[in-house]
Amino acid sequence: MTPPLPRTGLSAEIAACRLCAARFAGTATAHAPRPVPWFAPGARVLVAGQAPGMRVHQAGKPFLDPSGDRLRGWMGIAPEVFYDLSRVAVLPMAFCFPGYDAKGSDLPPPRVCAETWHDRVMADLGELPLTLLIGGYAQKWHLGPDARGGVTQTVAAWRAHAPRVFPLPHPSWRNTAWLKRHPWFEQEVLPALRARVREVLE
Ligand code: SF4
Repeated sequence: MTPPLPRTGLSAEIAACRLCAARFAGTATAHAPRPVPWFAPGARVLVAGQAPGMRVHQAGKPFLDPSGDRLRGWMGIAPEVFYDLSRVAVLPMAFCFPGYDAKGSDLPPPRVCAETWHDRVMADLGELPLTLLIGGYAQKWHLGPDARGGVTQTVAAWRAHAPRVFPLPHPSWRNTAWLKRHPWFEQEVLPALRARVREVLE
């Protein structure tokens, strides 16, 4: 069973982090940091994402939004499996909502977050049999030069990384047109992804 909120050890340290308070106060949303750590040693799947959006910031639970619904559909798992800490860990490039710019677009995840926390979280998690790299920021961080060509090129080269790593586009509604333009993603990548998720969660 998943505990209500994982707030012990490193997770508790991250939840108390306020490194970006001044930065967030200066955004159009002028919000305070609210880190959303969601991981525990022993997980089988790592969801390496971008950063919480406004809805997750308010809810305090990762992927509790339409992007999360789409991602769970891609993975072929129900919410109770996704939120089972013994099975799925979430490690975004920033644990807090970065805020909106003046035009209402999401700001990029502050790099200081990954620089501060990533290595420690990865050491805590140990080796996982499956990692999903969601969006350009996570792909560049984890794949380095292999992600230089951008998200489309990196996702198209998924066979170079599978079955342990799957680069994916962000499941946001903003990428619905991308999904239509690239039908191979649903036809080829998703069946392989679902098979691998089933395999590692068995
Ligand atoms: S984004 Fe990361 S570094 Fe910045 S306040 Fe939140 S947890 Fe701390």
